[in-house]
Amino acid sequence: MIKGKKILVTAGPTKEFIDPVRFISNASSGKMGYAIANQLYKLGADVTLVTGPTNIKSNLPENKIHQVISAIEMLDVCSSYFKQIDAAIFTAAVADYRPLSMESSKIKKNENTMSIELVKNPDIAFEFGKVKSKQQLSIGFALETDNMIEYGKSKMNKKKFDFIVLNTTNNSGEGFGFDTNKISILHKNMSIKSYSLKSKEEVAHDIIEELVPLFVESLLSQLLF
Ligand code: C5P
Repeated sequence: MIKGKKILVTAGPTKEFIDPVRFISNASSGKMGYAIANQLYKLGADVTLVTGPTNIKSNLPENKIHQVISAIEMLDVCSSYFKQIDAAIFTAAVADYRPLSMESSKIKKNENTMSIELVKNPDIAFEFGKVKSKQQLSIGFALETDNMIEYGKSKMNKKKFDFIVLNTTNNSGEGFGFDTNKISILHKNMSIKSYSLKSKEEVAHDIIEELVPLFVESLLSQLLF
């Protein structure tokens, strides 16, 4: 069911430059997204990985990996795939805001305080949700510190995810930077499946297992119409 499927995976953080040497970013290592992309590739999927800056090596052929820096670049590359893909898995921790403008030279320190005007970044998953067909699947992630299920539900509805992978940073070993993760998967019918702490490779396997039946449903709906 996965073999030959065109799947877009986003991974890693984005960097939003303030001046030539400084940027706004977050602690995402990219490990979860790379683990998913690698497993899908092993299963024979036609994977495209769009990744922010990370130190990770991928098993994918070089022409299947797009290295980007900022959210705008990530959206540009991803949107060029929106029409042709069977599914997208949005693992990237895209920076919510970017500086309104990037200074061309290094900012000098003068005053005791300074402020930087930030503007909202585009939401890549939301943009895909606006254009995706009934047959195309979209999977999202949400890293929350509280109200995990409530926020997860609202993100799933807003971004038209077929399911959302929830994780918190409350327990040691899960979330950003770790080699392990503890997730729950929230489906559109509001059923929730919780998993134990596992390696990110095992977590990737669990996520793909939840994706397979959705491909079957999507195929059946195509045959019925
Ligand atoms: O940042 P947030 O918690 O809203 O992210 C939820 C989901 O949306 C994640 O799957 C993330 O990859 C995706 N997202 C995105 N573009 C953004 C922000 C989030 O694709 N600008």
